[in-house]
Amino acid sequence: MRIFRLSDPRNPDYTRAIRLGSWSAESVVCQACGAITQTRVPPLQIEYVAERRASIRGDFVWPGFDDDVALSPSAQSVLDGCSVIGWGRVEVSVDRKSRGRSSRRASAGDLLKDSSDLRELIVLGRATVDIGRSSIRLSLACNQCGARRYDLEGVERFTVDWDPRTRTALRKRLSRATGQGLFVYASEPTQFGVFRVQELPACILCTESVRSSIETAGLTNVAFLEYGELV
Ligand SMILES: [Zn+2]
Repeated sequence: MRIFRLSDPRNPDYTRAIRLGSWSAESVVCQACGAITQTRVPPLQIEYVAERRASIRGDFVWPGFDDDVALSPSAQSVLDGCSVIGWGRVEVSVDRKSRGRSSRRASAGDLLKDSSDLRELIVLGRATVDIGRSSIRLSLACNQCGARRYDLEGVERFTVDWDPRTRTALRKRLSRATGQGLFVYASEPTQFGVFRVQELPACILCTESVRSSIETAGLTNVAFLEYGELV
């Protein structure tokens, strides 16, 4: 079965959000590799960003770089049967520029009022990668702080090309290369369909069947990038 990364489609019709600082006070920078050891503390704090296009809240609200996501009640109910996830409280604010803004669609104030039902998706399940078979490479192993970083190649991804003629950035989707990506052992965490892997802690992964449930329910503002397979 194929696996996918849940990702922000960056659709300008949906309100964009940023993650605010809710991090542990003590941050240590490793002198050897520069890695910062700091953990995010709950609740997830997000801020909606003022944009020219009006505000529709998607079922998936992406405040970071696809590593954290907040879900609407409809999205929560689709994933609720999954025992390796939990739900976290979300605190929402609207940036000053959008506060007074009104539009034919929802105003920023309406968005704020409507957001008490958002919950952070907390993924508890960690699945194991078949490192030998996957196109994954250890790019940093620090013997001072123990940090390990991996690069993954050949998976589906978005790229941005600059078009000098129209002077606009064009976002393109590149397909997964045949036989490349992550090969993850089918196990307890993958059985429920939503999981992370130790090597790429920022990625929220799901199986093909979770993808179809999300698509069948018509949930909005989520893209599925093909990352690999269960083995
Ligand atoms: Zn280090």
